[in-house]
Amino acid sequence: MKTITILVPAYNEEEALPLYYAEISRLTESLTSYAWDLLFVDDGSTDGTADALRRLREADTRVRYLRLSRNFGKENAMLAGFDYAEGDATIVMDCDLQDPVDVIPQMLQAWEEGYEDVYARRVTRGKEPLLRKWLTRAYYALLQRSSRFDVLPNVGDFRLLDKKCVAALRSLRETQRYTKGLFCWIGFRKKEVLFHRADRRTGHSSFSYASLMRLALDGLTSFTTAPLRLSMLCGVLVSLAAFVYLVYVVAKTLIFGEPVQGYPTLVTLILFLGGMQLLALGIIGEYVARIYNEAKQRPVYLVESLNGEPVNI
Ligand code: UDP
Ligand code: MG
Repeated sequence: MKTITILVPAYNEEEALPLYYAEISRLTESLTSYAWDLLFVDDGSTDGTADALRRLREADTRVRYLRLSRNFGKENAMLAGFDYAEGDATIVMDCDLQDPVDVIPQMLQAWEEGYEDVYARRVTRGKEPLLRKWLTRAYYALLQRSSRFDVLPNVGDFRLLDKKCVAALRSLRETQRYTKGLFCWIGFRKKEVLFHRADRRTGHSSFSYASLMRLALDGLTSFTTAPLRLSMLCGVLVSLAAFVYLVYVVAKTLIFGEPVQGYPTLVTLILFLGGMQLLALGIIGEYVARIYNEAKQRPVYLVESLNGEPVNI
């Protein structure tokens, strides 16, 4: 019998967990041809999530739960899950019931047909602020254009991965992770299934605009060096323009002489060039910071316990 791991990162989800468990066990009862491994990653929650998970495991031994030593963020929590996933296939999903469990049979069917990465694409996104929707769309357009492979818009982390894909993801240990991009980067045979994203049932999204912005920057810098090239291009254009202007100024001075004037021109040029230089430096700094972080080679996450028992690392 094939084993399917359901990997669920959970951060402060004590209210959502019982509801989610009810849904997922309804599904597993209807699909008895598979063995199920329900793996929860408690990403350093500060509410009753740990207790809720312990109760779930007491009632159902298919449940396993991993607790990280602090909140490492969803991207890192997912890697922890991949490291501990044992199934022939792993399904990543959120436990706020925004990812409907009813899509899973379709995913499994596609997997049985030989697809190795079956991702769910949302036709509707659920309740979200208009600004967030709009910014997300603009961001994907930018990322799509500047990186060399497809980063799919409207595709989240909800997907089924064959164990080959899980092994591939495990081997990518970068610390500032942008898993949505990594899924695309690893390749393998992909297929999409469509779904309608529901609204969050309880609690609230843990992603603020600031954390989304950080994630967006991680995505851009880890998958494209286009900003660096763009600043070089700006440099070339400005130098060319400066050269033309230089010829003009020299010629003008030779022909007409030069009464001291041109204060506005000077100020504008200095400010403009200063701004451009700082911008380019900032872009370089962003990449240098990432090199620095990777060079430290810290582990991506630390485990506190597995199923309530301490683990040796
Ligand atoms: N999550 C996590 N660590 C975090 C933040 C979120 O493991 O630091 C989990 C959270 O419990 C949920 C999933 O990631 O299962 C998606 O989070 P959320 O619903 O807040 O994000 P959104 O749906 O708004 O993108
Ligand atoms: Mg959510």
